[in-house]
Parts: sequence; C-alpha cells; structure tokens
Amino acid sequence: MALLDNLDFLTPTTKNRASLKLIKNMAQTRASHAFLFLGSSPDCLYRLALAFAASINCPQSGCGNCRICKNTCRGMDAHVLTMEAEGNFLVKEDVVQIKKFVSMTAPAGRKKIVIIRQSETMNDAFANKFLKTLEEPPDENCLFVLLASQAQKLLPTIVSRCMEFEWTFAPGSQEDSAVDLGALEKIVHAGLKKIVQGEVAAAMGLGSQVCQMLADISQEQKKAFQKELKLRKETSADPVQAEREAKLAAQRQQRRLARLNKLGMDCVFDIIVAWLEDMIAVKAGAGQDVLHYAHNYTLIDASIFDINLEKLWAILKDIDRNKKFMGRSLNAELALDSIFLHLRDALRGD
Ligand SMILES: [Zn+2]
Repeated sequence: MALLDNLDFLTPTTKNRASLKLIKNMAQTRASHAFLFLGSSPDCLYRLALAFAASINCPQSGCGNCRICKNTCRGMDAHVLTMEAEGNFLVKEDVVQIKKFVSMTAPAGRKKIVIIRQSETMNDAFANKFLKTLEEPPDENCLFVLLASQAQKLLPTIVSRCMEFEWTFAPGSQEDSAVDLGALEKIVHAGLKKIVQGEVAAAMGLGSQVCQMLADISQEQKKAFQKELKLRKETSADPVQAEREAKLAAQRQQRRLARLNKLGMDCVFDIIVAWLEDMIAVKAGAGQDVLHYAHNYTLIDASIFDINLEKLWAILKDIDRNKKFMGRSLNAELALDSIFLHLRDALRGD
C-alpha cells in the first residue's frame, strides 16, 4: 500500500486517517463499486483517486513502482478512464464513452475504473443516463470514483449509490492556495488606510489597482500554463491523445482562472469587511483588543468622528450582494469603485 501511505497532500487528521484505512480495505476486498470523494481541491482529489485506482489494480496493492502503478498515477493506464467536462458541463454524449469503456473485458484480477472529475459539472441528462450504468454496470469488474467539491451539488440518486468520503488537504498542496495573494492584500490595506485618512484620490483609484493586480496574477498563471502545455506536447508519444489532453487541460485552466479570480475578490471583500467592522466597533467604544486589525486602532479612532454608521451598514450589505454575484457578469472594478466611494462619503458623514 505504498501509494496510499504516502499521500503528502492529505492533512494528518483522524478523519483522513480513518477514511484512508477504509479505502485501503476497499481496494483489497472490493466490497463496493461506487465511490464519491469530496474535497476542496480538484487536483488533490484526482491524485488521490489515481492512487486508489492503482492500489486496486496493482498485484501488490499499490506498490508505486510497477508499470500499472506508474501508468495509473500518470492517468495513462488503459483500464482507467478519466472523464471531465470538455466545456462547462458533462453532457449526455459523454456517457457513451463511459458505456463503451465499461463494456470492455478487464484482464484477470483487474478492474475497469472510471474517474469523473468535478462531478458537479454533470448536467441532468448526463446524470440520469449515467445513473443507469452506475446502478447496473455490465459486469462486476466496473468501479466508479466520482470527485466533487460538495455532495449537495449532485443528484441525490447518484450520491446514494456511492460510498462517500470527505477529504481535507494540506494548505499549500492546493493549486489555488499556492498563488500568493499577499501583494494584493497589501494594496487593499494601503488603499483603505489612505481612504480612512481622507485622501480622496485613493478612493478613486483603488478599484482599478485591485483589478490590475488580479489581471496580473491571471496572466502569470496563463504563462506558466502555456509553458507546461508546450513541455507536455513535446514529451508526448501519442499526438492525438496529446491534442485531446491539451484541450481538456485548457478547459480546466479556464475554470481554474475563474476560481482564482473569485478567490482574489473574496479576499479583497473580506479585508474591506474587516475594516468596516473595526470602524463600527471603535465607534461603539470598543477597545483595541477586539479589532480584526488592532494596529489600526489609533488611525480609525482619529478618523471616524463624523462617520455615518447607516452608510457603513449599507456598504456591508452591498458587499454581501456582490459576493453572491461574483463570477456572474459582475463588473468587479465598478463594484469596488462604488464601495470605496461610499466609504469615503460615510467617513465624511455624508
Ligand atoms: Zn504497483
């Protein structure tokens, strides 16, 4: 079980350990044919699912060294099919590929394993058609591993067929948390400080500064992705397969950039909310120790003499609304501009 024992991206919690023990057992006894792995990082989930698949098909239960283990962990074993949306959704036609795959005959002692990445992208037509295969696979050598962020995003009839495992991943192992938002945080704090100090121009420029920063982060990620893609194409033996993989990788990258952008905006909103809550607390007579940012106490205390609290509450509500609509046609720069200008007005007592 070398593979499943060496997953450094899993946090060493009791729950993870218990789940690992269970799936190791399942890999040997093969007591279930449908699994649902839940977790916040699509990439970590996939690596886990591949290690699980290798542990099932390797004659030494996942030694990590044999050809089966190596190919499976690279997602290149002929008896492991990875499905993922080519656009925004997994559609009915994608089930055809699954059906074809599971109708093959597996070599003795091996399973045909279908891994579905980001299962929440299943549309209803896919889910309903796939459910039939999940319920009545053509033979007993089929095994399904569904990956998703939350079970609630899947059809309950599908969830109920699967053994469910929820995983937590070590910080830093998740592709999105590897992106450094520190510089972005710095800009927001510095800008808010200026607004609180009454620098009118700061309120006007902060929104575009934040968005520029997010665009830069995105651009860096795109460059890194292109470089990796080029390398993969150059080292691939099968050009047709490489082309398909490149297409999927590009789609995945697009979804990832959208997530990353949301992560950045959430971080910005969280900082603004913390500042506003600190202002409200200081106005109510709270001491330094209860603030999110205690070092801002003197600055806030000196600047909120005229503050319009109702307006602050309105900004908080506005942020809440914006967070909900993020990713859906929200013009981030306009939204931020409006928030910062309202904050400036509130501080003036307007
Ligand atoms: Zn092996």
